Amino acid sequence: MADSEFAFELRTCAWAERNWHPEDGERPCIVARQLGTRSRRWDTIVVEVDPDALAARRNFGTERLDSDLLHVVRHAPADWAFYRDALPRPGYPWRYVREAVHSAADRGVVETRRNGNKIELRRKWQYPDWVRRIVAIENKPDLDASAADALADQLEQDVALALADEVWLATESTGARERALFAEMPVEAGILTFADGEASVEWHPRSLDPDATGTRITERPSASEFDHSPASFEYVDADWKADKRLEIAERAYERGWRSYLDTMRPDCRHFALQRADDGYVPYCAANAREQTAAECSGSCPEYEPEPPAWRQRGWPLSGGPGAAIRRVLDERRQRRR
Ligand code: SF4
Repeated sequence: MADSEFAFELRTCAWAERNWHPEDGERPCIVARQLGTRSRRWDTIVVEVDPDALAARRNFGTERLDSDLLHVVRHAPADWAFYRDALPRPGYPWRYVREAVHSAADRGVVETRRNGNKIELRRKWQYPDWVRRIVAIENKPDLDASAADALADQLEQDVALALADEVWLATESTGARERALFAEMPVEAGILTFADGEASVEWHPRSLDPDATGTRITERPSASEFDHSPASFEYVDADWKADKRLEIAERAYERGWRSYLDTMRPDCRHFALQRADDGYVPYCAANAREQTAAECSGSCPEYEPEPPAWRQRGWPLSGGPGAAIRRVLDERRQRRR
């Protein structure tokens, strides 16, 4: 049983990395957490990939390509061309594209040259089509009636927008009372339950259509019997969705799910990793439990830096245990790419 929602989220990520897809057998993927759009952040993201195309993506480095850089690398021509002739007309001033061309050249992902007062570019590699599907998982270890209400609402919005190919709810709740709450979820959403580290599919999801126009629900009537106002919504075009999906996948590629270390304090002498069912999760020896990312910060009252002697002894190779933990997790993140 996880100590917190954060701990449960890490377990879901570790499980997905080893076991995806729960119904159809192994599908290569990258797992990340806490990504989405400005208005909607998913707990766990599974990006199913084409392995050969993913290998080709490595040419572009481990950092994500943001929307400006994607605009350049996806359309950079094979032969030298003036950037305004080669790239599609943006929905914003060309001077921002010129900046993105320079920054792509600084990152070494395209080549540029001057021809008079014109900037020309050509690609170094074709940007690969590495993303096959995107799956969003909402984690809720303790499902009660009010959490089920809120989740059903969120999942309905995800289904209507269809930015992901599949949406799931993951929970630890397995009692009859909680099972009754599953009926509130939209039928398109899959339901995954965890018990003693084993996952089972309680409800199979339906594939959504991210290539079609989506619907964003902007306002819905309250549950009150006196509220007869209609729901309002707006359409979201398929091109916006395609761009957003690739941006999310790029962020997942950069961060993976082990990036929690970037905000926690592995340099604290009480910080440790402990083995969970499918991977390592952080553990705080001072509190004798798994700590959350929010409490494991410089303001934690129990925080104590690693003693200098740990580092001076070159433990275990260079740096203290905190540096070693960071190195190990970075290596694992690298291996997934
Ligand atoms: S004592 Fe505080 S800072 Fe140190 S590992 Fe525990 S939660 Fe993190």
